[in-house]
Amino acid sequence: MKHILIVALSVLTISCNSAQTKSIQKISTRVDYANTITAEELKTHLYTFASDKMEGRMTGTDGQKLAAEYLRNFYMDQGIQSPIEENNYYQTIPASYLGRRIKTDSENVVAFIKGSEKPEEIIVLSAHYDHVGMRENGDIYNGADDDGSGTVALLEIAEAFQQAVRDGNGPKRSILFLHVTGEEIGLFGSKYYTENPIFPLENTVCNLNTDMIGRIDPDKAGDEDYVYLIGSDKLSQELHDVSEAVNDKYIQLELDYKFNDENDPNRFYYRSDHYNFAKNNIPVIFYFNGVHEDYHKPTDTPDKIEYDLLAKRARLIFQTAWEVSNRENRIVADKLGKKE
Ligand SMILES: [Zn+2]
Repeated sequence: MKHILIVALSVLTISCNSAQTKSIQKISTRVDYANTITAEELKTHLYTFASDKMEGRMTGTDGQKLAAEYLRNFYMDQGIQSPIEENNYYQTIPASYLGRRIKTDSENVVAFIKGSEKPEEIIVLSAHYDHVGMRENGDIYNGADDDGSGTVALLEIAEAFQQAVRDGNGPKRSILFLHVTGEEIGLFGSKYYTENPIFPLENTVCNLNTDMIGRIDPDKAGDEDYVYLIGSDKLSQELHDVSEAVNDKYIQLELDYKFNDENDPNRFYYRSDHYNFAKNNIPVIFYFNGVHEDYHKPTDTPDKIEYDLLAKRARLIFQTAWEVSNRENRIVADKLGKKE
């Protein structure tokens, strides 16, 4: 509601200052839509999504189911459809797929904005919404950064795109919002999706995956306007170049490629959900803030998130998704077969 008001007010101001009245369509730009992603709204979402009520969102638990409902309700409220069937936003994953410890089925939560010109070409935006749950002593692992931050970023990005759709400025290619489960126990949700894709993988243009973008790596203290990018040049030089150009033009964060080094011992490229897409030769970018003292501890709580920085990083992902979904030609995996 607030978003619409802000856009409407700015339209009003501009209209009053110009000779003729202009419609919202003519003056709503990608920057306007990006600016609907606000620190305040990210914070509101995250204080609920990473609250104790969600019990640490362990795959297969009541807390994870509650988190899934939160996501589903958001998309329904926004009028963003499911790609599966009306009002069914869950891609169910059988317990047997999820390993011995998990006794209950789990679900990826999916939502879809259909492209206006090339609807069969799909951009996948992903973030895992599960975390590591609770301990017997009652400690709750809220996972505000991991990966509440990526989850709420996806919600705000979806809202921004949906506003563009309402104004008649929707993306030319389609966008799938993929909230995966089972990440913490072995990247199961993304593995299941790529083995049971809702849209053919050959039509999947790229995957932009977000896992931990709300905090600051202690190594970056004093130099905090950054995000680590991993994988952007591994399969597609074009995707990497587009990502750089978009950042230069619209966002101006420092894009730090330290962890993109093949020799980096952390091997983060292999450790989050984008890897299941990369394995299938789909170009990826992994957005990441690095680890910190609260990583996988009960102290990863929403009060420690840097909301302005989270908003800026989310806008970078939005702008990159906007670019790859609207540019003339599909991004090409031009480095296939040239590595390893
Ligand atoms: Zn994570």
